[in-house]
Amino acid sequence: MVERRPLGPESDPKLLLQEIARQNKVIHALINRLERNAAGDYRSEFDELQTAVALKSEVRRRTAALETALGDNELMTRQLRESEFKLLSVVNQPLVGISTSEDGKFTFANQKLADIFGYEASELIGRDILILVAEQDRPMVAEHTRQRMSGQVPVADYTFRGLRKDGVEIDIELHGSLHHIGVKPIAVSVMLDVSKRKQAERRAEDLHALLREQSIRDALTGLYNRRYLDVALEEECSRAQRDGDVFSIVMCDIDHFKSVNDKYGHQAGDDVLAIIAAQLGKRCGPADQAFRYGGEEFLIVLPGQTDAMAANWANELRETLREQTIKPGRQAFRITASFGVAAFPHHGLCCTEVIGFADRALYAAKRGGRDQVRIADPVTTIPSPALAPAKWRLEHRPTGVKRGSIR
Ligand code: GH3
Ligand code: MG
Ligand code: MG
Repeated sequence: MVERRPLGPESDPKLLLQEIARQNKVIHALINRLERNAAGDYRSEFDELQTAVALKSEVRRRTAALETALGDNELMTRQLRESEFKLLSVVNQPLVGISTSEDGKFTFANQKLADIFGYEASELIGRDILILVAEQDRPMVAEHTRQRMSGQVPVADYTFRGLRKDGVEIDIELHGSLHHIGVKPIAVSVMLDVSKRKQAERRAEDLHALLREQSIRDALTGLYNRRYLDVALEEECSRAQRDGDVFSIVMCDIDHFKSVNDKYGHQAGDDVLAIIAAQLGKRCGPADQAFRYGGEEFLIVLPGQTDAMAANWANELRETLREQTIKPGRQAFRITASFGVAAFPHHGLCCTEVIGFADRALYAAKRGGRDQVRIADPVTTIPSPALAPAKWRLEHRPTGVKRGSIR
């Protein structure tokens, strides 16, 4: 940085030169007068000689001051050039794009910024800064810019979808600040093309999501797997407790599935499992979750549904299944399934308890002759009034829903 010293009249080279020229003229005039008055009054000559000497010394002093000022000036000019050179080498470095803008229009853009967006640097000057922003991010960038220019948030730090001249969208990271030259606010922005980094991040996120999805899905049926059931049920229990809501669990087991394998082969058995899973998926709403619980057993969680509602849901599924002709290969046959239903908090205040009740109801359906839906016996399982929230107690008063088989 050049340190500027205050310049008084003595260090203004132009004024000093004028002053020295003026005083030289005075000296010459005095010497001329001395020569003309050679035979005159010695006292006045002495005075004039003294004045001339004083003037000469003044001229010498001012000449020295002028030399110093000129030296300072040269030094300052050199330092200024050095600073300019350093600034240019920073601004024209090939790593980041740099721009300045006033009133939303570019006033400067370095070569790198132009390269990032596929423009010539000169093309950008005077253009709206939003030409470098993809349509969907323009309101966001405009708002950031407004906040920066008003001094509300003088430092900006965000990413946006940039728009190249050829229409290709890129990811841009922007670091910006606000400066005042005189009264005019100037936005200085440093921009980086982070498309490659963002692409890698997106790929990693997609891969992570895929791996997570694979880790919680059953490969054959595409339904959630048993490992995920614990997590999902824990979440559902917490949600229901928090909201004072109910949910039901339906357990489904294919009847005599072993004989399908025996008659038509294991592959046909696999196909049947996939067909039934697809039926289940179709019947599930967005909040419902279907799991492959075991070999040919499925478990469905129905949020917000009482056991009676869930039993109706299961019964419709049962009817659909038994009416459907399954054609896994060249053969065609029909299958049936049995269902057990239990509800939270009606049959238990933890997932394990509710699953236990649904499992026992399924066993009862099997014993009762298969191809039927059973609701777990509620009598001994209604939670104590102290444990159950008021909403649950109201919703779970005995309603006359027939317990047992609803086939
Ligand atoms: P029930 O009506 O009492 O349920 O009789 P079931 O034959 O369905 O029940 P069991 O438990 O005796 O037999 C289940 C059969 O399911 C045994 C097993 O070979 C078959 N199984 C389990 N997992 C798979 C699978 O992934 N693919 C195929 N093809 N078969 C499976
Ligand atoms: Mg089974
Ligand atoms: Mg079975």
